[in-house]
Amino acid sequence: MKTEFEIIIVGAGLVGLTTALACAHSGAQVALLDRAEITGTTDGRASALSTTSLRLFENLGIDLSEKLQPIREMLVTEGTPDSPWRLRFEGDGDGGDLGALIENHALKSALAAKIEEIPEVRIFAPITVENFERIGESIRLRADGNDFTAKLLIAADGHNSLLRRKAGITVQRFDYDAESLVTTISHELPHDGLAWQRIIKGGALAILPLLDNRSQIVWSGPSTAIAAAVQLPEKDFLTLLSEKMGGYLGDMRLVAPRQSYPLRLQVADSFSNDRVALVGDAAHVIHPLAGQGLNLGLRDAAALADGVKTALSTGQDIGVISLLDYDLWRNADTRQFGLLTHLISEISGAKSGVFGHVRRLGMTLTNGSSILTSALAKRASGEGPELPALMQRY
Ligand SMILES: Cc1cc2nc3c(=O)[nH]c(=O)nc-3n(C[C@H](O)[C@H](O)[C@H](O)COP(=O)(O)OP(=O)(O)OC[C@H]3O[C@@H](n4cnc5c(N)ncnc54)[C@H](O)[C@@H]3O)c2cc1C
Repeated sequence: MKTEFEIIIVGAGLVGLTTALACAHSGAQVALLDRAEITGTTDGRASALSTTSLRLFENLGIDLSEKLQPIREMLVTEGTPDSPWRLRFEGDGDGGDLGALIENHALKSALAAKIEEIPEVRIFAPITVENFERIGESIRLRADGNDFTAKLLIAADGHNSLLRRKAGITVQRFDYDAESLVTTISHELPHDGLAWQRIIKGGALAILPLLDNRSQIVWSGPSTAIAAAVQLPEKDFLTLLSEKMGGYLGDMRLVAPRQSYPLRLQVADSFSNDRVALVGDAAHVIHPLAGQGLNLGLRDAAALADGVKTALSTGQDIGVISLLDYDLWRNADTRQFGLLTHLISEISGAKSGVFGHVRRLGMTLTNGSSILTSALAKRASGEGPELPALMQRY
């Protein structure tokens, strides 16, 4: 069994899989390890992919066209969609600016299928990673009694990252005492590509368009309320949901189980150290309200691939050169989004008082300014002057 690689990636979630493809695209020999089967998933979530994330997949040769539901309009309101307290973004109709929704299981199977075609990536799963150590100019990783060696180790092992802890990288963490209930409904009326976020008592309800007249529900609120909503009999839950949605989408039924996710803000103090890089939730977890966590992780993957390409094309040490700008580049972007989503979640959660007034005033002013709405949409799309090569237009 081959155990010597240029890069070892631990964690084959959406970010780990994409990082493996991106690094292989830069020419590296990669080992991808996960404790679970690569194709298995119980994740019932869908993700809003930004335009730059969609471009990354296109540039990696992954065809998602049959799996994407374009977002044609985005609406944040207090009350029903015709409420005066609203923030509205209109897209170009094909997801070219507001992005698109994809179910996580569909994205994962597309990424896993692509990896199977690529000889530069070797998969080891299921396998349990135990530890790693730095030996001279290499990393030695121990998993299920086998030793793997590489120049660079990438931790894509999720929010509770073992590798992050073993690398001695600390995090800043804030628990919201809130959770998101996620499920999928099919419905009588068409959604017309509208992604609607309604601010409700103590949180928010997102109704996100999926293919085949279905929508993903992400209901975020206090942990006790969400736990109770998960336990409600299905009929009662649907009645409650329909009431919160003001009858929008007509009759509906649940087509997926209800799952809940605790919410936190967690950012690593450093995104890399001595031949180790963190990507995805191993580096950052943010409030899902703005649908940006995965998009940030995909930017980590593309940014690392840039560094890997530079190292390989100049014949320098991949474990050193790939990380030169990585921490600086990704840390700033992540902290901006972390702060922004934190502020939005705090302001959204406030029912009355100063924050309630600030929210309404902010929505009215922003909605009235095409410059502000297009600046916000541009920031959420990930576009900016320092876009990694794999996210640029060719
Ligand atoms: C309710 C909700 C809605 C969201 N919606 C959006 C959205 O619309 N848009 C968006 O951009 N983001 C969204 N996010 C965020 C997004 O889902 C996450 O950021 C993303 O899934 C993280 O992927 P990951 O690959 O980094 O981590 P994970 O999916 O956690 O993958 C980690 C992998 O590492 C493996 N692993 C862990 N430990 C080990 C070990 N010791 N050895 C081997 N393998 C190991 C695990 O088996 C797993 O496969 C949402 C999040 C929530 C909670």
